[in-house]
Amino acid sequence: MARYIFITGGVVSSLGKGLASAALGALLQARGFSVRLRKLDPYLNVDPGTMSPFEHGEVFVTDDGAETDLDLGHYERFTGVPARMTDSVSSGRIYSNVLEKERRGDYLGKTIQVVPHVTNEIKDFLAVGDDEVDFMLCEIGGTVGDIEGLPFFEAIRQFSHDRPRGQCIFMHLTLLPYLAASGELKTKPTQHSVKELQSIGIAPDILVCRSEHPIPEKEREKIALFCNVRKEAVVAAYDLSSIYEAPLAYHREGLDQAVLDAFGISPAPRPDLSKWEDVYDRILHTDGEVNIAIVGKYTQLEDAYKSIKEALTHGGMANRVKVNVAWVDAEVFDQADAAPYLEGYHAILVPGGFGERGTEGKIKAAEFARTRKIPYLGICLGMQMAVIEAARNVAGLATAGSEEFDHEAGKKRFEPVVYHLKEWVQGNQKVTRRTDDAKGGTMRLGAYDAVLKDGSKVAAVYGSTAIDERHRHRYEVDIKYREKLENAGLCFSGMSPDGRLPEIVEWQDHPWFIGVQFHPELKSKPFAPHPLFADFVRAALDASRLV
Ligand code: GLN
Repeated sequence: MARYIFITGGVVSSLGKGLASAALGALLQARGFSVRLRKLDPYLNVDPGTMSPFEHGEVFVTDDGAETDLDLGHYERFTGVPARMTDSVSSGRIYSNVLEKERRGDYLGKTIQVVPHVTNEIKDFLAVGDDEVDFMLCEIGGTVGDIEGLPFFEAIRQFSHDRPRGQCIFMHLTLLPYLAASGELKTKPTQHSVKELQSIGIAPDILVCRSEHPIPEKEREKIALFCNVRKEAVVAAYDLSSIYEAPLAYHREGLDQAVLDAFGISPAPRPDLSKWEDVYDRILHTDGEVNIAIVGKYTQLEDAYKSIKEALTHGGMANRVKVNVAWVDAEVFDQADAAPYLEGYHAILVPGGFGERGTEGKIKAAEFARTRKIPYLGICLGMQMAVIEAARNVAGLATAGSEEFDHEAGKKRFEPVVYHLKEWVQGNQKVTRRTDDAKGGTMRLGAYDAVLKDGSKVAAVYGSTAIDERHRHRYEVDIKYREKLENAGLCFSGMSPDGRLPEIVEWQDHPWFIGVQFHPELKSKPFAPHPLFADFVRAALDASRLV
């Protein structure tokens, strides 16, 4: 049976609970324990799949095809443990399950209540797979006191009672604001936040206090006394220059030791932090920098491309260079010349996206990269745009476009080089979708195999001809245009195992131009940079030496 660590937050949101959880997971691994991380989100959306990236940031996709919160990306990047569908849940999903059971008559006509029916559903979620790991880390989204969060807090309280004593601990993140006028860190909001937790029956074992200034000993004692925790269990979390310093920083502040103490694990196994020391060293000591443009639509909120940004950082670490990312809004040159906006970058990345807005700009970005021989990485929509560009400007299909945009516009303006996929194969099973399915859950989602062409650039990059990568899209490049496009020089260098779905395209007479239908960024780790990102940054570095 796993030991459980429940991670909650108070005082303000955005304290970095996800990062703290991920870093703690990494530290427990460094001490030889196995971990799994989970996220419980109080919002009422059933999953983040249909939430706007402007509001909620990126949707992280798991191997088994779940659309989840971006915190699961942090968890994977820090622990290397692939997240599963059963690692992410929202209030919406919980209520929807309960209501479905009620309709099915599973509750035998009982009155359905938050306690026990909703809380039981949450507890069942928490218990999944608890015999597989040493530690299960469960983060509750939002802050204590949020109205939607209450059933989750009640469920974790009950859960800790259901389990044998000493199997569950509570870790609470708060903020110590600094008052410049008096030069003091204030502990009162933390005290209030802990009171709020205690009023619902939860006594935190560990307090992680975010602070911009060193926490004086006497303040630490005061927090310990007023919040009823041990002094050693008041852990400071200072601002960091890089998130990848977090495991080392939390270790320095004693977080992993405090957790092991709270469980009474003694003697504590010694940690091996060499992996994280190397990661941090690669960030601290770089030689040179490259400037990469991300030409996208959701450029106002960087979280919308969280994993891409991180994967580029990992690519930089692989080459020991600093990667400067510039966010370029594709819509700006939808109708204008792209060159003034794209000149000077060492590489161009066009990420995934949905809808027509900005796509003419992305097509121009692909053309600019192709004709100027600038390294280009097209991801999902970015690959589709590169194919449309090739079709229009090289293969002579002047009206080439994607069915996605015709579907929106309701009339046929384009020759559908990219079309709506309604049937495909997953493993040995056929999957079918209709055009009029509801928006949620109608995509090709999760890990799929691809076969790479021997001798292609992408096979050299991966060092293999068999890969699997994660997908999240409705539309596909239509295989019937393959011959025309290959004759024009665009090689279809990766295909689904049945040979029907183009997975990767590359220009052969170009230093580095690769489009992939999947999302390689989701699998990149600081200690194992994804080969596509590592090589893309290397190509950008080569390009930077030419100018
Ligand atoms: N909108 C495109 C599709 O559905 C691309 C999706 C994406 O980039 N994730 O196929």
